[in-house]
Amino acid sequence: MYIKTVDFSLFSSIGIGQRVDLKMIEQEEEIEADDFFVGAANNILLSPTPPPLAKLSKNFDYIVREGESLLVGASVLSGRLLSYAKRHDIGGFEFMAKLPGTVGGMTAMNAGVKEYEIFSLIEELRIGGEWVKASQIEHGYRFSRLPAAVTAVRFFISEGFDHALMERLKAYRKNQPLEPSAGSVFKNPPGDYAGRLIESVGLKGYRKGGMAWSPIHANFLVNLGGGSFDDAIFLIDMAKERVYESFGIKLEEEIEIL
Ligand SMILES: Cc1cc2nc3c(=O)[nH]c(=O)nc-3n(C[C@H](O)[C@H](O)[C@H](O)COP(=O)(O)OP(=O)(O)OC[C@H]3O[C@@H](n4cnc5c(N)ncnc54)[C@H](O)[C@@H]3O)c2cc1C
Repeated sequence: MYIKTVDFSLFSSIGIGQRVDLKMIEQEEEIEADDFFVGAANNILLSPTPPPLAKLSKNFDYIVREGESLLVGASVLSGRLLSYAKRHDIGGFEFMAKLPGTVGGMTAMNAGVKEYEIFSLIEELRIGGEWVKASQIEHGYRFSRLPAAVTAVRFFISEGFDHALMERLKAYRKNQPLEPSAGSVFKNPPGDYAGRLIESVGLKGYRKGGMAWSPIHANFLVNLGGGSFDDAIFLIDMAKERVYESFGIKLEEEIEIL
């Protein structure tokens, strides 16, 4: 275990935050129950007073083929896993194209696109030094109830990387803003879209300080330069209030506010 100081204004995808010490885990045994893990911070909005944070070191960055399954360390980035799947003609991982994150972060969020999500590929997860069947972990749309940090995942694999599927899913991201963001801020409520609701209450493109609801996709909070935590929270609270007043719908954050 060692400590690494990271500047969240550079490390996080939304470009917000201060310098914080990360407890870098090198061995499973070093993990403590109250450690709060970060992956690649693509889904995190850091407050000025976050809890103590931990992160898996490079020791958890490996991909090993084991017969009909793939053993992957939780530090592995989505792009690396996607490249591996392409190179070895393995199917199932196409949805990870342009979906930024680590295997640990994607598992915690049950990350996915449309009907494709990571849990449908998982056979078992390594948690607390033991293998746990994926079916034993409660999970659903953009959540999983992990009892502790995931250090590795064993994926089912199928033959044949589907290039056409990957291109279709990439095309679906055409309306995704290019400015720094943490992806979708809110989960889509059942039968509706958070972006549509935010647009309906007049907030698409609405700006506070350096942050704005993207004029391209209203459910993305973008950092136009110098955006702060307070600007982001102001806009998030405003969207929640307005959508509730107009539609009686309580928007639930997909991003993790720490
Ligand atoms: C441009 C952009 C597009 C995006 N598009 C999508 C999309 O299409 N679909 C989608 O689902 N998401 C999307 N996201 C959000 C983000 O990519 C996912 O949530 C991803 O899973 C985050 O992974 P991460 O490693 O960055 O996790 P982090 O943001 O670092 O953490 C996210 C959560 O995972 C937990 N976590 C991290 N590592 C571990 C671990 N080892 N064990 C247990 N818990 C852990 C953290 O505690 C936190 O609760 C997008 C984000 C951006 C910036």
